Amino acid sequence: MYQNFKSHLENEISNIREAGLFKNERIIVSPQGSVIRLANGKEVLNFCANNYLGLSNNSDLVQAAKDALDTHGYGVSSVRFICGTQDLHKQLEASIARFFGTEDTILYAACFDANGGVFEPLLTEDDAIISDSLNHASIIDGVRLCKAQRYRYGNADMEDLENQLKAAQAQRFRLIVTDGVFSMDGNVAPLDKIYHLSEKYNAMIMVDESHSAGVVGETGRGVTELYHLRGKIEIITGTLGKAFGGAIGGFTTGKKEIIDLLRQRSRPYLFSNSIPPMVAAAGIKLFAMMDETNELQEKLHTNTAYFVKRMKAAGFDIKPTESAICALMLYDAKLSQDMAAMLLEEGIYVIGFYYPVVPKDLARIRIQISAAHQSEQLDKAIEAFMKVGKELNVI
Ligand SMILES: *Cc1c(COP(=O)(O)O)cnc(C)c1O
Repeated sequence: MYQNFKSHLENEISNIREAGLFKNERIIVSPQGSVIRLANGKEVLNFCANNYLGLSNNSDLVQAAKDALDTHGYGVSSVRFICGTQDLHKQLEASIARFFGTEDTILYAACFDANGGVFEPLLTEDDAIISDSLNHASIIDGVRLCKAQRYRYGNADMEDLENQLKAAQAQRFRLIVTDGVFSMDGNVAPLDKIYHLSEKYNAMIMVDESHSAGVVGETGRGVTELYHLRGKIEIITGTLGKAFGGAIGGFTTGKKEIIDLLRQRSRPYLFSNSIPPMVAAAGIKLFAMMDETNELQEKLHTNTAYFVKRMKAAGFDIKPTESAICALMLYDAKLSQDMAAMLLEEGIYVIGFYYPVVPKDLARIRIQISAAHQSEQLDKAIEAFMKVGKELNVI
């Protein structure tokens, strides 16, 4: 059979290539950082990592991970409830709950698993999930695994959400689900309005803080801080793979009873390995650093505001952003690819996105700012954007 299947696969892959959607892996030979070294030896300024706080190669986190290798070993070879829970896992769960002002936390191997394992244990066909149309793929997959009735509203469209909530009144329990920051536009979910509607129509809320935790809010505690809703949201999911050191790991944090039931029934928690002790230890160190100072969050906010201001002054069309994601709108798919390639020649590493990752005719370059960017690095990037932008008649 494989001969037939092989030609089927080859055909699928060539279709992807012909559509111009083939994804290549770019090899980096240095640690993650504001400057990275590519396989060809070239060093470039990096503006496409989720390394928002610049902690991916932080020496204190690296040291905490190394120390844990000595004290707790390399791996645990078990799921949490058999013999895979070390003191470090419990401490990290408590640290995350403290950071978000929630009651309890459950760790997963990734936020993809947190989202994959959150709906099915909690809701049944008698219930309703009302989901933003731009929610992350892992939320979409998690919802698919659950028998609850599905409702979808347009991105951050509160009139549509209200209509869906009205339609969902027949169900027993209602859960509104939204990303905190939407990754392609950098906009923040209007959680104040969502909260208001949840009260009016008797619903609960889940926020995925993957792109917002460490970034949004005065002290980077995420969208619940931004909207003064700490402790009021039933479920928060998030990742340790972005602002929080960038290694691996996800979590669900929120109401105690919800976390209690997830520990009994959430399949990615019950049937998948615990995160390695070195990752847990570095996570504990990270949240201890966050307790001490908001320096990195402040640096990130300053960097982002500076970058956006100068890019707009240069005449670029930057989507309004409330996060560390800046979408430079180019509208044309080919232009987005050409511009990213020319910027790489200038030593600036950014990615152009186009349909189907973003809507047709809304091609763009996504720039991700980090607290690790020095002001000279931001200036160098802005100058490169201006040079290439003029060459391509974008400005
Ligand atoms: C990145 C991301 C995830 C996946 O996180 P991992 O820990 O890498 O699996 C989930 N949800 C959102 C909104 C994300 O941006």
